[in-house]
This record gives sequence, structure tokens and C-alpha cells, in this order.
Amino acid sequence: MRLLLVEDNVPLADELLAGLQRQGYAVDWLADGRDAVYQGRSEPYDLIILDLGLPGLPGLDVLAQWRAAALAIPVLVLTARDSWAERIEGLKAGADDYLSKPFHPEELYLRIQALLRRSHGQANQPTLQAAGLHLDEGRQCVLRDGAEIQLTAAEFRLLRYFMLHPEQILSKSHLAEHLYDGETERDSNVLEVHVNHLRRKLGRSVIETRRGQGYRFGASPA
Ligand code: CA
Repeated sequence: MRLLLVEDNVPLADELLAGLQRQGYAVDWLADGRDAVYQGRSEPYDLIILDLGLPGLPGLDVLAQWRAAALAIPVLVLTARDSWAERIEGLKAGADDYLSKPFHPEELYLRIQALLRRSHGQANQPTLQAAGLHLDEGRQCVLRDGAEIQLTAAEFRLLRYFMLHPEQILSKSHLAEHLYDGETERDSNVLEVHVNHLRRKLGRSVIETRRGQGYRFGASPA
């Protein structure tokens, strides 16, 4: 999953970037509100974390412009400590969730996981589930019939994307756009290697190849 972090406090942004990358997210970072309006609309993000106090353009205006342009991506706003007015204004402007500063990074990670599940029709599940698999996002491993299957970081990122989009045909270029940040070179051969590793661990039928179209996960459980 690919996230946009809009935060002008550099030490905080550095900490969050490193933490989110450890959580297996591809993250782009911006500090300016005007840049965020443009980039949020032009890149295919899965979720956006938006600070409200920003140079260039206030976060509330950034959010209002995204929603006016019918951008439906889940947005989690970061508000000042104890500012109920900011929380209310944020929710009114179209935020899906909020977190007041200071916060523990773990709370941010759990809220992101829940928001992503909710926006992909899994609101009623405490963990990500699809095709008989349970993904443990904290430990980055997968469970099937009670047995734990270990994953590499790259396999975890790919499987999480598949499990949030079961039975959808996903082209290699689409997958690359959602698994790598804007700075990383995208190599679809590498994706193919990770798909094959996942098949070896989870069974061949878990990921179907649609010739000329891409991959389809979870169509026929292994
Ligand atoms: Ca700020």
C-alpha cells in the first residue's frame, strides 16, 4: 500500500517515515500544503496522513480541495493536542479519522490498518482476512488453519495488497504503483519473483496469472 504523509515538522516526519516503512508501506513525504493538493490528486495513494498546520496552504483547505475534486482516498488528519475544534473541522471537511499530537506511533499504525480494512469492505474484521488466510500485520506473517507461514518484507507488502483486493485483476504496473514510493525504480520482473515465492509458500492456485492482464488473488482457495 502506498501512503502520502503531509507533515511540516521534519523530525516527526522522519520518525513517521521510518516507522511506516518498517510497517511495509511505500511512503511519499511532502511538507507544503500546495504541493499536497496537486500530488494527492495526481498519484494513486491508498491512504493519506495529513497534518492540519502546514505552510503553503492549511491542511483543512487541502482536504476540502481534494474532496471537492471527488478524491475518495481515506484521509487521517493529525491535529494539535486537545483541539476539539480542529477535530470537528477536520471531520466536517471529509477526514475519515484523526489522531491528536503527541501520539504513539503504534496507535497510528493500528488506525491505518483499520482504515484500510474499512475502505476495502473488511470493517467487521479485527485482522485482514481473505481466501482462508489471516494476515498478522504486526508480526508480518500469515496464518492458515492455525499454522504460521513466515514472509519476507517484500512478500508481506505484496500479499497485503492482494488480500485487500481479492478476486480483482491487478496488472503488474498497477501493483508497482501501489507497492513502491515515487523515488523507487519499478521493476516488474521483481514482482514476478515475489509472486512465485508467495505461490511456493501458499499454493499455486492462490494467485492466478491472467495472460496479458496481470494477477488475480484468491479466486479459488488452495
Ligand atoms: Ca504542522
